[in-house]
Amino acid sequence: MRKKNYFAGPSVLPVEVLETIRDNIVDYKGQGLSMIEASHRGGMFEEMYDECLALFRELLGIPEDYDVYFLGGGATLQFTMIPVNFLLKGKTADYCKTGSWANKAASDAMKLGDVNVIYDGKDNSYTKLPDPASIRPSENSSYVYICANETIGGIEWKSFPDTGDVPLICDMSSDILSRPVDVSKFGMIYGGVQKNLGPAGATFIIMRKDMLDRRNENVTAYMDYALHSKNKGLYNTPPVFSIWAVKLVLDWVKKMGGVDAMDRRAEEKSQMIYSVIDSSDFFRSPVDKAVRSRMNIVFRLPCEELEAKFIEESKKEGMLGLKGHRSVGGLRASLYNALPVEDVKALQDFMKEFERKNG
Ligand SMILES: *Cc1c(COP(=O)(O)O)cnc(C)c1O
Repeated sequence: MRKKNYFAGPSVLPVEVLETIRDNIVDYKGQGLSMIEASHRGGMFEEMYDECLALFRELLGIPEDYDVYFLGGGATLQFTMIPVNFLLKGKTADYCKTGSWANKAASDAMKLGDVNVIYDGKDNSYTKLPDPASIRPSENSSYVYICANETIGGIEWKSFPDTGDVPLICDMSSDILSRPVDVSKFGMIYGGVQKNLGPAGATFIIMRKDMLDRRNENVTAYMDYALHSKNKGLYNTPPVFSIWAVKLVLDWVKKMGGVDAMDRRAEEKSQMIYSVIDSSDFFRSPVDKAVRSRMNIVFRLPCEELEAKFIEESKKEGMLGLKGHRSVGGLRASLYNALPVEDVKALQDFMKEFERKNG
């Protein structure tokens, strides 16, 4: 029996995707070798990769004037690559510090150039987000940086700032393909795939091509987005296994009805849990209701002893990954695209029963 998987990342994958991998891992579609044994130049990998990129474009509605490709190194490498390329000498970059992930990106950028923190949620312990209309780039800004969904804090921008001519760069690691996005409003969108798109290893990069006209020159090869753009991510060996699985997840998303269907699903699933939290004094959400995340639901119980008991007993029911991140404590249920509605229902029932017994 498969466990119910609420891990924040790596995280649940559609079981059909795992089965397709199982069925093809030794002999990919009767070609006599595995996808993970094939060269990444030409042949079956590149054919699959091109389909993967085309499907990603189609599902997210990525315009023609944007590059799409995958790199290694995780989202974390992008915390460095972004300022190395785009934080121009004599200029500044604007960062919105909204929680663990945006804050890490800001601290890496600060080591590489002049950073202006235009929002810092420290005073509210990163439980709120600013009004997007209040986000104005500073005069000398190379770009504005935000994180769409703070996976650890459990907050999510519901709409995005309009930064005019200054490119908006966004980390969408944990909410990509959970809702429609107007890609044309962004200079760059990126993220690790291991939350909503596949197994760990690959990082997706979506970048407006003219971003390359305003980057620092003379950076080392791997750091250079222009080099990756020219090679659609195949300058060096890409994470082939992860990319193959992403392709299969994208097939699954398409079959399920695309991003609009994922959006409705995310609304339905998150409401199932938030409705339990809202209708009880036993459960408590520490974050601003207006910006609470549909992907990562952070909640508390009346005391830490009960939280420990909740985790213990949920494990016995085959429910994994409900412990909050060590930096914030409490509980967290990640309800990514691939998590079946039945598993959310099981959590809902478990929460109600736990309150009945312990409330
Ligand atoms: C998980 C996560 C990261 C870090 O991703 P790595 O691939 O581990 O580097 C960055 N940003 C967000 C929003 C995340 O959820």
